[in-house]
Amino acid sequence: MTAHDPQDFAGRHLTVAGLGVSGISAARALAGLGAHVTVVDGGDGEKQRAAARELEEEAAAGTAGGQQGSLTVRLGDGATLPEGTDLVVTSPGWKPDSPLFAAAAAAGVDVVGDVEIAWRLRGSRGETPADWLAVTGTNGKTTTVRMLASILEAAGLHTAAVGNIGTPIIDLVLGQGQHGQQPYDVFAVELSSYQLHWAPSLRAHSAAVLNLAPDHLDWHGSMEAYAADKGRIYEGNTVACVYNVADKATEDLVRAADVEEGCRAIGFTLNTPGPSQLGVVEGILVDRAFVENRQQQAQELAEVTDIAPGSGSAAPHNIANALAAAALARAYGVSPAAVRDGLRAFHPDAHRIQHVADIDGVTYIDDSKATNTHAAEASLAAYEHIVWIAGGLAKGATFDELVQRSASRLRGVVLIGADRALIREALARHAPDVPVVDLDRTDTGAMPEAVREATRLAEPGDTVLLAPACASMDMFVNYNKRGDAFADAVGELTARDH
Ligand code: ADP
Repeated sequence: MTAHDPQDFAGRHLTVAGLGVSGISAARALAGLGAHVTVVDGGDGEKQRAAARELEEEAAAGTAGGQQGSLTVRLGDGATLPEGTDLVVTSPGWKPDSPLFAAAAAAGVDVVGDVEIAWRLRGSRGETPADWLAVTGTNGKTTTVRMLASILEAAGLHTAAVGNIGTPIIDLVLGQGQHGQQPYDVFAVELSSYQLHWAPSLRAHSAAVLNLAPDHLDWHGSMEAYAADKGRIYEGNTVACVYNVADKATEDLVRAADVEEGCRAIGFTLNTPGPSQLGVVEGILVDRAFVENRQQQAQELAEVTDIAPGSGSAAPHNIANALAAAALARAYGVSPAAVRDGLRAFHPDAHRIQHVADIDGVTYIDDSKATNTHAAEASLAAYEHIVWIAGGLAKGATFDELVQRSASRLRGVVLIGADRALIREALARHAPDVPVVDLDRTDTGAMPEAVREATRLAEPGDTVLLAPACASMDMFVNYNKRGDAFADAVGELTARDH
């Protein structure tokens, strides 16, 4: 089925895969449009039962009136396709080779994600649909999307950061113009590779791929498949495809994309920009793409010191993120002054190079969100002398390149978590002189001990940096909790622990 209108969902039988945040939002919205929704989930624990009960009760109350929709939850079986399904709506955690999707394919039933549903429903309330400025990449998506939303707001546009971030996108699209709400002009949309995989008809106004490094390969199966899913973001762009000059793979994706006539390839670089690029000249962000004469002219946008937290020498990757956000905003016609004001007003989310404390000349930084080696490398590049706290779940990654490139900055390393031996071995190979403390414990006391050990290794002027290069779930609920544990442990340090 190819519904493009809320009415088209009425009476249809939809199967939603997964009783998580995005599945619950999709199920609610679609039942609200009159669809007969079955949420399926392989789990059948107490938590799932409680969520199922709540959702079913709420739907029964909400749809009892005019709409003919219904909502049921089937727990303990996430593999069998419910009889009569017209369309499967999936959640990000579900792998493409899940048996449910194989069953859907065999039955000739389409599988789509929440982003695809939101895209199909945009403008369905009769309002002019908001444009989408889309961002993907292995790292920096959330930061760039928030910078972009801040710039768009500074330009006086009604906007929101959506997608893999904040309010589920379907809720925002369907909320458009409801209850006297002012319709949105434009969305700053963060898209994960999973969401892109399941959003075949998405056509953004303009889009950026920030960088490409191996991640989530267990989900996609191969680097080629991962890159191909990321590249879908450029399909059908109308004004600009923004790529990273320093990461050729992103430019290759632009070349491979089928875009609208007249859509331009725009590069961003930390160096002096060429024509059709944005870049940096003597501490100033400049635009040589959206100016009248790009062979001769460059337009000043902002100063590097306008970017938090990249001020001074810190965090070059955040300058790159700012340039990508600026490129999308300029593609949308935003003025240079609004780019500057938006970047100044932007504050990064927690656990992303977050300054925690300065104690006895040592700076403590929480970059718990550095959950892969590519992110950790960017983080380690931002400081000169580092005691690095690393480790967790490696998700199939290797650490040789990261250690090789960062070895000269390491004062010492404290290793935590399940896969710490992989990092220890890479350190033994490429940085044998760097002292390493290997913490063989995963209880709640592990982080305070890691912070004490790191403090012992640090000298005045050094940075103790939590940039684990790994996922957190072996020891913590998520990266937020890991970062909180780090900050709490730093709070417990009253004096240096020599
Ligand atoms: P995402 O939403 O893609 O996970 P975030 O903006 O939340 O990205 O940043 C995640 C982590 O990635 C940060 O903590 C930082 O260590 C790192 N990072 C941010 N931007 C970049 C970039 N452009 N290149 C490399 N690493 C980055």
